Amino acid sequence: MHPCCNSCPRSFECVRTRGYDRGDRTSGRRGRASFGGKAALGKRRATQQSRRRRRGKQRGRGGRFVLPVLALALVALGGGAALAHFEGQDGHVTAAPPSEPVRTPSSQPPTPTPKPQPKPTPTSRPTPRPTPKKTAKPAPEKTAVPRSGAGTFTTARATGTPVGTGGTLRRYRVQVEDGVDVSAREAATEIERILAHPRGWAAHGRGRFQLVSAGENADFVIRIATPDTADRLCAANGMNTHGELNCETSTGVVVNLKRWLLGSPTFAGPPHEYRHLIINHEVGHEIGLRRHMGCPGPGKPAPVMMQQIKGLHGCHSNAYPYDEDGIYIEGPLVS
Ligand SMILES: [Zn+2]
Repeated sequence: MHPCCNSCPRSFECVRTRGYDRGDRTSGRRGRASFGGKAALGKRRATQQSRRRRRGKQRGRGGRFVLPVLALALVALGGGAALAHFEGQDGHVTAAPPSEPVRTPSSQPPTPTPKPQPKPTPTSRPTPRPTPKKTAKPAPEKTAVPRSGAGTFTTARATGTPVGTGGTLRRYRVQVEDGVDVSAREAATEIERILAHPRGWAAHGRGRFQLVSAGENADFVIRIATPDTADRLCAANGMNTHGELNCETSTGVVVNLKRWLLGSPTFAGPPHEYRHLIINHEVGHEIGLRRHMGCPGPGKPAPVMMQQIKGLHGCHSNAYPYDEDGIYIEGPLVS
């Protein structure tokens, strides 16, 4: 029996070998039946052995081809399995969540990183506005004084009580040129207070004064006018005031607005104190003091009837007719 019949009895080789074996036995029986001779029998056996050797060689060649093919097939299967496994790993990694978080920049949990502070950039800075160039203008006065006004006046609607210890009663009205930023009523109140001052004319028996309103009889008028208007009113009484000075006219007192608001360059005190000098000097003319005085001596107070704005001549500026002891401040008559 052929050796492969133990493992594959139904294979072609086994069946054919068995057939040969049966033929051998049949031919044997036939031989025994025919008995053609020993030479013929030996020749058949030699032919069968030759055929077996050729088949063995063919199987050997076939085996040499089959083994590499099988090996290649196995390698191919293994490689395919390995490729499939590799791709499956990729798919598994991407499809299933990883057992541990893979630290990649995109999968890292958001950490509380400080927000970047906006850095000041030239584009974020506010565009500096061009500063207007300073022109060499003269320094403006602290209080703007209009050079001219309407030429008409508003009378303060206020009536006061007479002030003074003795003498003739004189009633007066207060007027302010229209268009000027000075209240006529406030100006009247201030003038009333000046005339009632303890160092004034009325306090020392040189007359009594009463503020009256519009429509009431008045002995004189105190007008506050712009420089141009003051010049015109003063010029009508023969005086040239140059837009700087006050004057006393036939109808009353003309106060230059510039002096009322700014004071005098020769006066040491503030404007509101200089207003005492204005009223005391001009009202002094009203009570009969027609002449001006000069400086009584160096270092002494200048009399109110002195034209202090034209120079102090060694005196110091003073706004009151009397000093604090009630002594009349006077000097030599000069004009
Ligand atoms: Zn005068």
